[in-house]
Amino acid sequence: MANIVAIVGRPNVGKSTLFNRLIEERKAIEDNLSGVTRDRHYGHAQWGGKFFSVIDTGGYVTGSDDLYEKEIRKQVRLAIDEASVILFVVDCIDGLTDLDTEFAKELRSTEKPVFMVANKADNLDKMLMANEFYALGLGEDTIFPISSSSGSGIGDLLDELIKKF
Ligand code: GDP
Ligand code: MG
Repeated sequence: MANIVAIVGRPNVGKSTLFNRLIEERKAIEDNLSGVTRDRHYGHAQWGGKFFSVIDTGGYVTGSDDLYEKEIRKQVRLAIDEASVILFVVDCIDGLTDLDTEFAKELRSTEKPVFMVANKADNLDKMLMANEFYALGLGEDTIFPISSSSGSGIGDLLDELIKKF
């Protein structure tokens, strides 16, 4: 099976920024005003001699609470179906939100490896915030605090990620 990594999570957590770091090409369409990426984007990456594809999902949720849940379910299912590994991205500046909990609920149904990625861990204070995401009860043994804008923590994440291939 191909090595495919799907990046999922609610809008604005930094999925597209991480995607761009991983593929080292600006392929995702970032909309800095709304944090919305409308389409799914695919890119190629490599680390430690292993090659893999990355999917940047939209995390675009709109409308009533009903639609919300339906949209989240759809995006997570698509990602789960296609991916061999899932990166579930949350945000250390905003902390744990209800939408994160909704995504987590959906992600719990997969047997595939889910890595919890706490983005925007730009400094030590923010890194400590990452601990609150253990409440979601997801992921491998650990949460990976990263900063997609500076790149810190991404190497450690990738070291563990490629062990799944
Ligand atoms: P997406 O909606 O999940 O794809 O999120 P984006 O990648 O579009 O990022 C949303 C916002 O968060 C943008 O303004 C980014 O510049 C910002 N952002 C992304 N990564 C980081 C990070 O590591 N630290 C900080 N402070 N901001 C970030
Ligand atoms: Mg995006």
